[in-house]
Amino acid sequence: MQEANKDTFTYIQKFNDLLRPEARNISVAVLFVLLVFSIWDIQFLGLDHPAVYPILWVRFGITLPLFLILFFKSYQSSPVPRLDLWTCASFSSVNIALISVFFIYHNVDYKLPLDSILLCSIILYFLPNVFYYQKLFMSVLLVGGYLFFLIITDRPEMEFVRAAIYLFVLNLAGVVQSVSFDKERKANFNKTEFLRHMAQTDQLTGAENRHKFDERFTQLLSQAKNDNLGIAVAIVDIDWFKQYNDHYGHFAGDECLIRVAQAFLLMKRHPLDSCIRFGGEEFILIKYGVSLEQSAVWGQKVIDTIYQLNIPHATANDEQRITVSAGVIHWHPTSSLTRTQLMTLADEALYKAKENGRNQVQLHLSKTR
Ligand code: GH3
Ligand code: MG
Ligand code: MG
Repeated sequence: MQEANKDTFTYIQKFNDLLRPEARNISVAVLFVLLVFSIWDIQFLGLDHPAVYPILWVRFGITLPLFLILFFKSYQSSPVPRLDLWTCASFSSVNIALISVFFIYHNVDYKLPLDSILLCSIILYFLPNVFYYQKLFMSVLLVGGYLFFLIITDRPEMEFVRAAIYLFVLNLAGVVQSVSFDKERKANFNKTEFLRHMAQTDQLTGAENRHKFDERFTQLLSQAKNDNLGIAVAIVDIDWFKQYNDHYGHFAGDECLIRVAQAFLLMKRHPLDSCIRFGGEEFILIKYGVSLEQSAVWGQKVIDTIYQLNIPHATANDEQRITVSAGVIHWHPTSSLTRTQLMTLADEALYKAKENGRNQVQLHLSKTR
């Protein structure tokens, strides 16, 4: 159940993130349409008509603040704003303004036709960045408001029935279409997410794969630069793994890789911490937001974690269990090292750890700035 809630939350976030330009365009388009209608009001009534100012106030006073908020919110980066809710609120204000305009015209003995209500109803169902239940909510507000207007102003019964039938049929068609559109859109989203996950995950161990690492690492460094935080990068290699395969068989080797990867994945604390299967029995681990001293402590923890798994390895040199060696490098936000240079230096440190007897971490100390 909790998983389903998390999925829905992620979907709504992605939905709003992807449809930012639509929210922005909608707010500009609506303000333009309001301007056109206001010019029409002025032309129709004349600038000195007492109803003009209340109408202009209603058209802009109620709607303008919400559309401006929607427009500026569409630029807010993190957390992703609920643009669907803001769009829903903005269009609800248009509906309220429209019904109010009907009342004002009625008070000065003009009878507006049903057309603008029908037009507004149709537009609601074309909004790309709200969900079907939000469209339904806005439509109920509009239709309810209009029917209320007809009752209060004592319109003929036939006019009420005609409007009710037109609006009911239009909304029914709109809701049916929107429900299936939303369903299809969510299914497509899930499919894309699944494919993205598959393309970024190592199939055997569930760790991230090299493709994801290549794609994200530069991004990670610029994020760390922005946050002014350090990063520890470790290249970790399982010791005597060829012997393990030779002794226990390839399938047992696979099981061992899975257990090691799971242990690394459990060490992740920050959302930007990573465990990547770099190839064979080599992993890259990333620890976000750490100092040089913390990097050293974390590197030792990596070694200890695998040691404590106590996976028997009869043909390993001394320990008789699976161990790993690691080369760790600390990256500081002022560092000018490229990704390749970082990896080369971490690899050199790993080589040293192997040479010094394995089951240990070596921290690269120089040339990191
Ligand atoms: P060292 O301590 O120097 O790292 O020794 P090693 O035996 O681990 O080093 P080497 O690179 O010679 O061996 C790596 C082995 O990892 C060779 C290969 O059989 C094994 N290996 C690589 N990928 C897989 C895999 O997906 N599954 C299994 N079972 N074994 C793998
Ligand atoms: Mg290796
Ligand atoms: Mg190895």
